[in-house]
Parts: sequence; C-alpha cells; structure tokens
Amino acid sequence: MNTEKQIEREDKAHDESFRDRMATIDEKGKRKWVYAQKPRGKFYNIRSWVSRGFFIIFFGLPFIQVQGRPLFLFNIPEAKFIIFGKVFWPQDFFIFGLTMITFIVFIILFTAAFGRLFCGWVCPQTIFMEMLFRKVEYFIEGDAPAQKLLKNSPWTGKKILKKLTKHVSFFLLSFIIANFFLSYIIGVKQLEKIITEPLAEHFGGFSSIILFSGVFYGVYAFFREQACTVVCPYGRLQGVLLDRNSMVVAYDYKRGEPRRKFKKMVIAETGDCIDCFQCVKVCPTGIDIRNGTQMECVGCTACIDACNKMMKAVNRPTGLIRYASENGIANGEKLRYTGRMKFYTVLLILLTGLLTILLASRKDVDGTVIRAAGMLYQERGTDSVSNLYNIKIINKTIKDIPLILRLENVPGRIIEAEGRSIAVPKEGQGKGSFFIVLPNKIIKERKLKLEVGLYNGEKKITTLTTNFMGPIHRPEHK
Ligand code: SF4
Ligand code: SF4
Repeated sequence: MNTEKQIEREDKAHDESFRDRMATIDEKGKRKWVYAQKPRGKFYNIRSWVSRGFFIIFFGLPFIQVQGRPLFLFNIPEAKFIIFGKVFWPQDFFIFGLTMITFIVFIILFTAAFGRLFCGWVCPQTIFMEMLFRKVEYFIEGDAPAQKLLKNSPWTGKKILKKLTKHVSFFLLSFIIANFFLSYIIGVKQLEKIITEPLAEHFGGFSSIILFSGVFYGVYAFFREQACTVVCPYGRLQGVLLDRNSMVVAYDYKRGEPRRKFKKMVIAETGDCIDCFQCVKVCPTGIDIRNGTQMECVGCTACIDACNKMMKAVNRPTGLIRYASENGIANGEKLRYTGRMKFYTVLLILLTGLLTILLASRKDVDGTVIRAAGMLYQERGTDSVSNLYNIKIINKTIKDIPLILRLENVPGRIIEAEGRSIAVPKEGQGKGSFFIVLPNKIIKERKLKLEVGLYNGEKKITTLTTNFMGPIHRPEHK
C-alpha cells in the first residue's frame, strides 16, 4: 500500500510544466547555464572518430587545388562559386538555384527518414562545440560538477588562471577556425597574402578575420546550445519535417514508465527507468528526453550512452533510450518507408536528373550577342546592309582565350569594330563590338536569325544566336 502511495506521489511530480518554457530559461526568463556532463560510451567514441574525420576535411579542403583552382570556393561577395573544381558564375544562377532546391529536398527527405542525424553527427556547430571547445573546457575546468564548483567559488588566483586559460584558448581556436572559414570564401592563396603582406594592404580581409573570430568566440564561449535551439532555422523546422515514423533519439516510455528510483528490492509494477537523471545531466541542450521528442534535441546520442551505462549497472537490457520512431516505441513498428518519403524520393530523382543534364550541357565559354540598342541597319553601297552588335563573353576556364567570330548560317562578313579578336581573360569576361554585313539578296524578311560561331584558332568553342534587322520590301537587284 505504501508503495502505491509512493508511486502516486511520484507520478504527480512528472507533470507537463517542461512545455511552459525552454529548458535553458528559468521562470524569471533568465538563462540557465547548461553544465553538460562529459558523455562516455560507444556512441560518443564513434562520434569522436567522425569528428576527427570532419576536422581533417574542414582543415584540409582549402589546400586542395584542381588545375590551380581550389576544389571548393564560396565567394559570395563576388558571386563566384567553385564546386568540385568547376566554376559557377552569376550566369549559372539557374544551375545554382536548382542545386539549392535539390539540396533542400534532400534535407527534407533525410530529415523525414532520419530526424536530426545530421545535427548530432556532422553539423559543424555541434562538432566544434562538443568535440573541440567542450573537450578543451573539460580539460581546463574539469567535468560538469567541477565547472559548477568553479563558477560558484570566489575569484582566487587559481580561478582567474583557469578562466583566463580557457578564454584565451577559446579565442585562439576561434581565430584558427575563422582563418579557415575565410579561406572557403576567398581561397587559401588570398588568405596567405592577408597573413604575410603588410596589414594596410589587406585591411578589409584582416578585419573580416577578426570579425569572424569574435563571432565564433562569442558562439562557443557564451551562446553555445542556443545556436541550435533558438537560431538554427533547420532546428526550427523539425516540427514540420518530422513525423511519427521518423527515426529520432527516443526514450522508450512503454518500457521505462512508471519510473522509480532504483531499489535493490525491485518493485514489480515499475518500469526500467530508475530516474537517475544521467540522461539529463549529459544533455548539451539541457532537456529531459523522457518528456518525448523536443525541438531542442540535437540528436547527439549522449543520453543513449548515459542510459545504457545505467542499465548495465542495474542489470537491465540496454536501449531504454535509443534510435527509434514514435510509432516504433508506441506500437512496436519497424522503421517504415512512408508515402511522404516516396514522394520526396521521386522528386529528388527528377531534380537530380535535371541537374545532371544542366551540368553536362553547361558551357565553359558562353556569352551573348545583342544588336546595339537604338541603331537601325546601315546601307553599305548598293548591295549590302550592316548591323552593329555588342558581344559579351564569359570564360570559366583557367586559360586566356583569344576568340574569333565567324558567321555560321548565312554568307556575309563580320567586321570588328574594336580589333580583330576578342581577348577573354581566364575566369573573366570579355566584350567587344562588331558589324555584320549581309548581301541584300539574302535578306528576305525584316528579321533574320543569325548564328555566330566563337573560335579559338580553328577550334570552335560555341555558337551564339542573334537577329539581323534588314530593310523591308527592298526592291530586288538583278
Ligand atoms: S536529448 Fe539526448 S540526443 Fe537529444 S540533445 Fe539531449 S543528450 Fe543529445
Ligand atoms: S538515464 Fe535512463 S534510467 Fe536514468 S533517468 Fe535517464 S532514462 Fe531513466
């Protein structure tokens, strides 16, 4: 009977008040600092290895060059992007836009199926926070209880030294990350110039490094989990992307409830959860996964490791917290490939196909030929007519190309208004003006479609189209 009363009392304690506010905000609206205990276990070890791979890629990629170009470059200020060594210009905005849409569909599909697997395992924010900055913090200040103790202790020389060491280390790490981050925008060669050449010549670049360092330091030293729980738009979208079949880090409430403190004398009606709070103590976002799937959960698996350890200690099966779907926990269903996932998969295949076609047909040299605005045709003697054109050419290759123009589909002449050929610098643009002269006898209509071939020596690079404006109802010359 006593036991029943105790169970009733404890059940009342498990109320729904956690939904009233975020786990990291107290009732007065002030931030509650999360002192996450260091996770230990299988998942943490695997994540540590994954993070090492991530660091190698993040810090190594900027140094990889393909034909003198970086493998990846995201130069947003100049709207120039290099992906797998291929240069994308504003003119490729269609391909770029489609790539973005494909990527978003992939994210939706991936999230519908695997929840926040990305956040927990490969998101740079999580990896830098949990696998670099948090580890440095554990090394300097100790595990969570020691950190709390240090926070509440008076400002002694030892405390000042520890805090100073931590923040200087954090800033240095942020500075290093900022340099590499910038190298993804401007390229490692330009970054080298900023570092080695006089400051006055690269004041803008140097200011960017300091600005990024300050932002990273602010995020990892102070803002921390709030980047995921408050700011990240992907995190905010979980509510609409996840459904009951999505795989998430989940607490098996069927098996775990009613939770009770562990007693040697096991009470028959109790679940497997021994209410030890280890899953809450290790959570970097400060939530209690036993309250169900929450937007603050970044799927880091720390609670799985913590709970498995406790289950082993009390001789119960592991997996009370595990990767599972809501339907899996509630009805014992296996992970399913739902209708929604099938729809996204078909969409993804179509988009990827279209993207592949666009990429395959994308030209390294491209341009436009437009008749000079406001100009009519010009009579050339008694037997010919000319039009003035402006040409713009973009060269996405890493070689300068001198281009010669040739008329492809009609007899006639091209007279360059500015020099004989158009020089198009590597990864740059070239422009020029020229006349096209056609004999009267072939002008049968007011507007004639012309094809202009671009040649590098004898090698044809591409064909551009334009229109020729001629006189209407010209009398025939015999
Ligand atoms: S609930 Fe578990 S998986 Fe989710 S953030 Fe907290 S520790 Fe990580
Ligand atoms: S770690 Fe496991 S047993 Fe302990 S409170 Fe969390 S769910 Fe319950």
